[in-house]
Amino acid sequence: MKYVGAHVSAAGGVENAPLNAAQIGARAFGVFTKNQRQWQAKPLTEAGIEAFKRNLAETGIAPEAVLVHDSYLINLGHPDPEALAKSRAAFVDEMARCAQLGLPLLNFHPGSHLRKIDEQRCLALIADSINQALAQVEGVTAVIENTAGQGSNLGWRFEHLAEIIHRVEDKSRIGVCIDTCHAFAAGYDLRTRAACEQTWAEFDRVVGFDYLRGMHINDAKSDFGSRVDRHHSLGAGNIGWDAFAYIMQDPRFDGIPLILETVDASIWADEINALYALAAPLP
Ligand SMILES: [Zn+2]
Ligand SMILES: [Zn+2]
Repeated sequence: MKYVGAHVSAAGGVENAPLNAAQIGARAFGVFTKNQRQWQAKPLTEAGIEAFKRNLAETGIAPEAVLVHDSYLINLGHPDPEALAKSRAAFVDEMARCAQLGLPLLNFHPGSHLRKIDEQRCLALIADSINQALAQVEGVTAVIENTAGQGSNLGWRFEHLAEIIHRVEDKSRIGVCIDTCHAFAAGYDLRTRAACEQTWAEFDRVVGFDYLRGMHINDAKSDFGSRVDRHHSLGAGNIGWDAFAYIMQDPRFDGIPLILETVDASIWADEINALYALAAPLP
């Protein structure tokens, strides 16, 4: 079973997100539980938590099909100790909010070395950050997202994800989310079935499908290997439909949230329908 949805708005309260997802025919969704561009957030209220759980139950969307995304400000590999501590505290807060809402998946961009420390040191800091958070909050899995590799962001090579996983102690609560636009911009080709075979075989060899806990389904405005992160609507960018048909027809992508972060929210319902139409079994 495929669970397709989009990163929906939580305007007016996180309890509105399941309703926004249901409106576009989603069986999964991505969401921020606080403003993604601010450090501070009001704690969730009992009433808000109750309303969220009630609305989620009414939509029939499973908690495992919800992929919470953390704040863009957090850098779990920050080279400066004070800034790192601030990011780690904010990450624990994000994880605690997931636990309060009964949501098991927290998706985040791994971190950036800011050209002040080397890659290995930064990856080790990220893994330490994850270990500390997992020790403080129960019931939530840390889901590392691959990046396009813009600036000094790590996580654009599958080897970066594997290295972080290797250093995380509780392997049962670490996973990855692969964003198709980011992978393509990072130099993993997805434009043909043959390219998909190769890229996903490499992913399986380096990281392993056992760790795949979610996907971001985006076409790319950016060029192949450009290391630039610009999403596009499905079929309108440089990746094209073959990549999305491949995902919809391959059982290795069953049972995990497949989340659109495409640029035109007004066509998300159509994009979701188009993806489900591709899910027909192969002859
Ligand atoms: Zn993404
Ligand atoms: Zn992106």
